[in-house]
Amino acid sequence: MTDERIVSPETTDTEAIIEKSLRPQFLSQYIGQDKVKKELRIYIEAAKNREESLDHVLLYGPPGLGKTTMAMVIANEMGVNIRTTSGPAIERPGDLIAILNELEPGDLLFIDEIHRLPRVAEEMLYSAMEDFYVDIMVGQGTTAHPVHFPLPPFTLVGATTRAGMLSAPLRDRFGIISHMEYYQEKDLKEIVLRSADIFQTEIVTTGAVEIARRSRGTPRIANRLLKRVRDFAQVQADGVIDQLIADKALGLLQVDKAGLDYVDQKLIKTMIEIYGGGPVGLSTLSVNIGEETETVEDMYEPYLIQKGFLKRTPRGRIATALAYEHFGYSYQLSE
Ligand code: ADP
Repeated sequence: MTDERIVSPETTDTEAIIEKSLRPQFLSQYIGQDKVKKELRIYIEAAKNREESLDHVLLYGPPGLGKTTMAMVIANEMGVNIRTTSGPAIERPGDLIAILNELEPGDLLFIDEIHRLPRVAEEMLYSAMEDFYVDIMVGQGTTAHPVHFPLPPFTLVGATTRAGMLSAPLRDRFGIISHMEYYQEKDLKEIVLRSADIFQTEIVTTGAVEIARRSRGTPRIANRLLKRVRDFAQVQADGVIDQLIADKALGLLQVDKAGLDYVDQKLIKTMIEIYGGGPVGLSTLSVNIGEETETVEDMYEPYLIQKGFLKRTPRGRIATALAYEHFGYSYQLSE
């Protein structure tokens, strides 16, 4: 069910191709995340002045916020090549060795979903990150012995949605740890305007604001909603996206004024109608809406919490007064 959500922050295959053309190339084009940009700008300049590779960078935050994009921007700013892989793609230590073996001095290695690296591969990264070598075991049984394998200096950029799942030794080896935040509406508006320009779609600012408001603080969702609204504008109007068209199209897609889709709505309504607003346990709630507990925790709750509609308490989940108001219920509970 999650894959079909118009507001899912995860990427689809066709989207991956389009995303390439939408990605900003340099820090100056990267909208929002001012704190992260400011810090990185300093570290990048310092590393370039010293003619050294940049310290290892960990980018963490929810999906669709621009972590992969930022890794590419860093490579462009440093003027180095980027090699890309992901935690789940590295099944055996040999997979990681093959990638490390191809690194040229100064290269940037991007590992997406780094929290999903197998333990042995992760342990191999410790020496690779710290002293640029790996010890590889060759031979079997009594003839097994480690072979020292030096690596060129490189920068590892890791991305994760779950910083808490990284082991301390791995986390400690990142000199730069940057937390990516949900985007503000004004930044998402700029992203929508920029993407519309790339798509050569006419859009008025109020139309961009309407899309931005309903994009859950996430550029990937903003771009996706823009594409759907553009189709609607082409077929149902003169192709220009204004607030009315955006509102109608998003209404059809069942994305409400706060960016909540039918699953979010069902989740909150279930809490209010069946459990009197809570507290209700995560697993009970998940069964009620037919989703895995992990999915509810990772995909639905963060945005609902950020919007102030839901609270996690030791006794369970609670729907807030704001949630009652948003869905038109009268609020009778004391929290
Ligand atoms: P993540 O790796 O965090 O899941 P991505 O880097 O793949 O996210 O970004 C998702 C999409 O959002 C891409 O199409 C990218 O072009 C767009 N995007 C992300 N951040 C920005 C930004 N700051 N400015 C413009 N577009 C962005």
